[in-house]
Amino acid sequence: MKIELRKTFQFEAAHLLPHLPETHKCRRLHGHSFSVEIVVSGECDPRLGWLMDYADISAAFKPLYQQLDHYFLNEIEGLENPTSEIISKWIWDRLKPTLPLLCEVVVAETCTARAVYRG
Ligand SMILES: [Zn+2]
Repeated sequence: MKIELRKTFQFEAAHLLPHLPETHKCRRLHGHSFSVEIVVSGECDPRLGWLMDYADISAAFKPLYQQLDHYFLNEIEGLENPTSEIISKWIWDRLKPTLPLLCEVVVAETCTARAVYRG
């Protein structure tokens, strides 16, 4: 049985989007309660009845969370232009080696807007 698991995390951070015009509101320094959804997929273990332990997803994401939470994202290497699109790929690139079942990273800046990266 093929199955997909989704685990959501939240972090708070500040950013600005440096390539936008000075008049654009996202060019100004501001913050978000970012939501990150980590999605893994694969074959469900028939005996355990699960794909993997959600705690292992949390453990894999923890070092990234520690780099992101309550930081100014523009100062992080690779996030000089921290759009949701670029953050989702940044997370993917760092998570995939420790979470091989990773199939999707979703980053939302607000409740109504999100970017999805699938590698
Ligand atoms: Zn923003």
